[in-house]
Amino acid sequence: MTTITDPEALPSADGDATHPPANLPTVVHWAAGAPFVGKSDRTAPVYDPATGWVTKNVALASREDAEAVIGAAAAAWPAWRDMSLARRTQVLFRFRELLNERKHEAAEIITSEHGKVLSDALGEVTRGQEVVEFACGLAHLLKGSLTENASTKVDVSSLRQPLGVVGVISPFNFPAMVPMWFFPIAIAAGNAVVLKPSEKDPSTANWLAALWQEAGLPNGIFNVLHGDKTAVDALLEDPRVKAISFVGSTPIARYVYETGTAHGKRVQALGGAKNHMVVLPDADLNLAADAAVNAGFGSAGERCMAISALVAVDVIADELVHKITARIATLRTGDGRRGCDMGPLVTGAHRDKVASYVQAGQDAGATLVVDGRDPVVDGESGGFWLGPTLIDHVTTDMSIYTDEIFGPVLSVVRVDSYDHALALVNSNPYGNGTAIFTNDGGAARRYQNEVEVGMVGINVPVPVPVGYYSFGGWKASLFGDTHAHGTEGFNFYTRNKVITTRWLDPSHGGLNLGFPQNE
Ligand code: NAD
Repeated sequence: MTTITDPEALPSADGDATHPPANLPTVVHWAAGAPFVGKSDRTAPVYDPATGWVTKNVALASREDAEAVIGAAAAAWPAWRDMSLARRTQVLFRFRELLNERKHEAAEIITSEHGKVLSDALGEVTRGQEVVEFACGLAHLLKGSLTENASTKVDVSSLRQPLGVVGVISPFNFPAMVPMWFFPIAIAAGNAVVLKPSEKDPSTANWLAALWQEAGLPNGIFNVLHGDKTAVDALLEDPRVKAISFVGSTPIARYVYETGTAHGKRVQALGGAKNHMVVLPDADLNLAADAAVNAGFGSAGERCMAISALVAVDVIADELVHKITARIATLRTGDGRRGCDMGPLVTGAHRDKVASYVQAGQDAGATLVVDGRDPVVDGESGGFWLGPTLIDHVTTDMSIYTDEIFGPVLSVVRVDSYDHALALVNSNPYGNGTAIFTNDGGAARRYQNEVEVGMVGINVPVPVPVGYYSFGGWKASLFGDTHAHGTEGFNFYTRNKVITTRWLDPSHGGLNLGFPQNE
């Protein structure tokens, strides 16, 4: 077994694409500023989705391995907690500069393990960088408050203190951006982080760890624990871990929330999604068609903010479907390193599952307008391909509508009015993102007010908030009460402390057993 001890030795995306690598390296954990080979001999394969080849393995931690990584974070934390905000800010700035200079390296790693096209991979790193830039303002964001003379000669102040070791558990679909929703803020606020990335695309996490080290972050403040349920359970149960930020599918998010809180931890668990795009009759249909294609098929539909249900008011539905069909015909599916529009799905099993939903929709009576199951691709035949798929006359009882599919499948659900569209969106158990396309300001305003969804786009199909606002859905799309990044992120990673102060003053002496009252 070749072990990756140097992150620069990670296979690059533009390696020889005609042969699978001969000796598979293993991606190992990162603890206390160095690669860490645990004791577990369990591993999982990591694929290049555009070729279908296994290109490396990733270590799957044992409980003991997880405890060692958590221990490295716990040992390093006190010194980082006590480091001045000025010095912490300098480390954050250096990390931002390095990330900005070298983000194409991260993008290549992402494309080689996730499959999304290079420009999209670069886009996710750039959106993550936004949060790093926001976290650079840590000195301002961690400011407390002071009230002088709250009672006579008594002052009250509040301050925010870090929690300690915090765990970040992330999904496969954004191996850079989703972890960066959390760890820049957690670190800026003075915590130590253990990141448990998805085992499907684990290498970006190690690249980020090496970048932190180059930026001067003390060893042990950013650690990477690779693994599956065993690693996750260790983070949820270990008393040294004070908070968990999780992103993934709804059943696992619910499990993480319930288990983490039962162990006394602060938990924010972001779950799955079913995002609707409502198109009213007065919308610009060319803009709406472009948006539906971009938001439905970008990153092969493997985005938690992807549009999967297009809710079209009947009178314009035929014209809209026609326009979308014409646009799909221009898309190039293939290897993300070859300048294509859309890459493969992350694994063969996932591709097959998505394809089975297409079949189920057809069997249930929906109209398959564009079938992506036998696509022409610019890539190796063994890649996990599924072309853009458009399916019309979908009804709310079909599994293609009820389930989160997470692939390049756009379902058209026809409605007769705005009220019908709103009722449909609000009756869905998920509430991550939604969009409305209209030129009627009154209708848009009603929608933003009435829709029960956490992130709303008005003529914007993928309304992912900027780093200084907070990201999070409602209902089954988020468990916990704090959203990711923005000021909510700083609140999540710190505890409030209020101090009431009186300096010696003879006028306040004497016994008084009553409850303190302000005078
Ligand atoms: P997933 O739930 O399978 O995995 C997420 C994380 O949980 C991974 O680190 C994985 O190793 C771990 N995990 C998997 N099975 C587990 C188990 N039984 N017990 C404990 N941990 C387990 O999700 P995924 O397939 O990697 O990612 C896609 C999902 O993530 C979709 O549902 C998508 O909507 C969701 N997602 C949501 C958001 C959001 O902001 N709400 C963002 C991105 C992705």
